Amino acid sequence: MTREMVDGFGRRIEYLRISVTDKCNLRCVYCMPEEGLPWLRRDEILDYEEIAEVVRVMAEMGLKRLRLTGGEPLVRKDLPRLVSLLSSIPGIEDIALSTNAVLLAPMARSLRDGGVTRVNISLDTLRPDRADAIARRPGTLARVLKGLDAAEAVGFEPIKINVVLMRGENDDEVADFAELSRQRPLHVRFIEVMPTESNLELSASNFLSCDEALAAVSEVHALEPVPGPPGNGPATYFSFPGAQGTIGVITPMSHNFCSRCNRMRLTADGQLRPCLFGTIQTPLRDALRRREDLRPLIEETLRIKPEKHLLVQGSSAGSGGLVALSQTGG
Ligand code: SAM
Ligand code: SF4
Repeated sequence: MTREMVDGFGRRIEYLRISVTDKCNLRCVYCMPEEGLPWLRRDEILDYEEIAEVVRVMAEMGLKRLRLTGGEPLVRKDLPRLVSLLSSIPGIEDIALSTNAVLLAPMARSLRDGGVTRVNISLDTLRPDRADAIARRPGTLARVLKGLDAAEAVGFEPIKINVVLMRGENDDEVADFAELSRQRPLHVRFIEVMPTESNLELSASNFLSCDEALAAVSEVHALEPVPGPPGNGPATYFSFPGAQGTIGVITPMSHNFCSRCNRMRLTADGQLRPCLFGTIQTPLRDALRRREDLRPLIEETLRIKPEKHLLVQGSSAGSGGLVALSQTGG
């Protein structure tokens, strides 16, 4: 039996992003509508044993690394139990977590003990009033910073900070974020906002490219290209001489990186998606519940993985009707 997943364009797929819930305790302006979304019903969502079964089959096919995401993964009850299930699957070498960190402080230790080694934390501003406005929830920044401190204290390594760039909202803070990467061992990644059905105006009128953000940072100090922290992502990294951390850029809009894509996605309701955007997805849930062999479905999804996304700035045309990244895990 081959232990390798290679798609139709020769890309090796070893990484699965698992969305454990579509729900979230925040309403970030670039991600979700203020009123939320029509949430999935409990019985539509894969239970932990079902998620573990998908991972077990894919690990036999060559899957090595996982990321738990959402929605907000920490709002799903007893997440450390899922982590323990996944970390015992032969072939799985690494489990990471993407979180807004609001609920992280009390859970950090059990997640670390269960097998999560690395975390990505969303933090778009270092100013409390802005954080409340972007997340549309009061008291956000203090809770996120507490979560970040806890992440450092329990030894997640590396810790990456995801900053979605928005002109007129946080573009005057790029140097502050860069300074953070100098003082603490944090890897700050600037991300270009991607258009979805729910953020069309913002993603068009407030778009800021990573090139512009890097230029602003370079005015403060010269940046050097560096290899960057371990991970599976599409970021390119730089750092200040002598800095403890790095600065990364993720440029889905200005510099397409799909040729390096190494991943698939599993949504909370069991759709296997070969691309973040587009309409291609394979429902695994019913086959799982009928105890059918998942392998042919996974192989077919791999075979039809698109060469690249077709996103166009200011339009939802290329997103395949996606309302929010929270629906697919980002
Ligand atoms: N709730 C978790 C969090 O915020 O980290 C995990 C899910 S969230 C959908 C995953 C990542 O997608 C976050 O870093 C978030 O900032 C990013 N994201 C969400 N919507 C985006 C968009 N329209 N464009 C670019 N990044 C986006
Ligand atoms: Fe929630 Fe993450 Fe989306 Fe913000 S980016 S609304 S924290 S899922």
